[in-house]
Amino acid sequence: MKRTITKALLIVANSWTVGLSKIHAQVSYQQSKLSPEVLLFTPNERGVGNSIAILGESGVLVVDASYSPSGAREIIRMISAETGLPIQYLLNTHWHDDHIWGNQSFREAFPDITILSHVETRRSIVEKAIPSLSATIVGLESSVKERDRMIASGEEGGQLLTEERRQFLAKRQQLFKSTLADFKKIEPTLPNLVFRDSLTLFLGKMEVRLLHLGQGHTVGDVVVHIPGAKVMILGDLITRPIPAGSVVPLEKQIATLKKVASIEADIWVSGHGEVMTDQTTLNEQIDLLESLQKVVQKAQEEKLSLDQCMAIVRDRALGSNFTKGDPRLIAAFERFFIRVTLEPLFTTKN
Ligand SMILES: [Zn+2]
Repeated sequence: MKRTITKALLIVANSWTVGLSKIHAQVSYQQSKLSPEVLLFTPNERGVGNSIAILGESGVLVVDASYSPSGAREIIRMISAETGLPIQYLLNTHWHDDHIWGNQSFREAFPDITILSHVETRRSIVEKAIPSLSATIVGLESSVKERDRMIASGEEGGQLLTEERRQFLAKRQQLFKSTLADFKKIEPTLPNLVFRDSLTLFLGKMEVRLLHLGQGHTVGDVVVHIPGAKVMILGDLITRPIPAGSVVPLEKQIATLKKVASIEADIWVSGHGEVMTDQTTLNEQIDLLESLQKVVQKAQEEKLSLDQCMAIVRDRALGSNFTKGDPRLIAAFERFFIRVTLEPLFTTKN
């Protein structure tokens, strides 16, 4: 999603996606088969991106590397249980932390692996992800300390914790501590083969097209088209249940999604959340971005503030197809999609 890992973990912390029973000390993955050659690994935390393995005749391509070295090791273990073939290629669909920090584990397990990305993705890892890593670790350390203090004192923000809340925090704390330990072991590992528009791989007879269809979630998003399996892997151009915010201009996001929609497939894999078996979500997101574009136009004409824009968004119930009236999703939609998308327009132009 459009977030650094700090924001991803903020979502973990806010826990709008996770039930108490599903909390583990480490993020775990559920494996499912989308076609005989395409395996999906879905994490039990929605702040972490999906990973996909494409099994060729001679080797494997993995799409997105998990959020941490240990998350990646788990995916490698699951792939190895399925096939004896080596992982030859790893693609980072974009530069955000929850898709790249497992790169090193793939390189450790398969020293000859080729790590692929768009040229702008590699640049953003160098210029943004790596410089912010130490700040992320410092932020995690302080939130772990704060949680330890809350659990020990039984107080949160001056209020006494209920037993249920205290147990919840204690269980979440296990995840935070293991993530912190994992993050301290990150050795940034960069893509070593980059491209601009497209790159086609042949895994034996299987053709896999890596396509940059334009800017969307980031400037360097890559989607994966497997024509033989009729599968499209979209990275965070689409996330579920709610779309991810982006600072890319809305007209560019819309144009890119329309290009995605023009490619024939039967299954579309989102960067987070469930796969799609039709284009409903894709079309709903295009509609949403077009509606938002109209709000921005009105804001510019009438010199409205960001808060006035938010009020129009609520008034017109933009996003109701995604949030379906769930208050936690509405809050997440406003915070992580609308604000992330609109805020830069107001800070730079107003
Ligand atoms: Zn993501």
